[in-house]
Amino acid sequence: MNLILFGPPGAGKGTQGALLARHFDIPRISTGDLLRDAVRAGSGLGREARRYMDAGELVPDAVILGLVRETLGGESAQRGFILDGFPRNVAQAEALNGILRFLHRQLDAVAVLDVADELVIKRIAGRRSCPACGAVYNVHFEPPQTPGRCDACGGELVQRGDDREETVQRRLEVYRAQTEPVLAFYGREGVPIRHVDGSRSVEDVQAQLVSALET
Ligand code: AMP
Repeated sequence: MNLILFGPPGAGKGTQGALLARHFDIPRISTGDLLRDAVRAGSGLGREARRYMDAGELVPDAVILGLVRETLGGESAQRGFILDGFPRNVAQAEALNGILRFLHRQLDAVAVLDVADELVIKRIAGRRSCPACGAVYNVHFEPPQTPGRCDACGGELVQRGDDREETVQRRLEVYRAQTEPVLAFYGREGVPIRHVDGSRSVEDVQAQLVSALET
């Protein structure tokens, strides 16, 4: 299964992608995670990427395509892959076609998680995590018992730099303007597109995805 998991920031691509990866026994490749690893490692690439990420803007295509080319060509992606957060614009989608042609692979489907903007903002801007133990909360949906403190280890909860409300608004604008046109691109290419209601529970969305992809 060679799949693109598509949808706005906060649609649940990370959570659903991880579950699908387990279901189909193939890796989830998240360009956001690859970039955050580079930021944490403090590499030149990470320092460059961080400026764009904190502003809610897209990181330049050349940086992203280098990361994707390396990962898709690697051993673990040979049985299949789930792309999460890539492609983010039509130029990236065109470049992905070239990479797949070179690797003699083709896409099986694009799965779209549909979620309204208001829910996206609550999900992302409400997200808090514990740097000490990695636990994740949401001030609206899964608040910690004591505001600002981790239930598991008592650590102080923090908000990711690009999760602030004004940055989330910008990420949504970028999604509508640059990323959504990618769907029409795959429509023209004849790649099957499967829409799923991403506002439901994690279990419901996963069940819908699996049945949409297995038929
Ligand atoms: P994500 O975790 O997928 O929401 O990505 C977090 C941030 O990383 C985005 O807001 C972008 O700044 C950057 N990013 C991730 N994937 C891409 C991509 N394919 N193209 C450009 N920027 C990206």
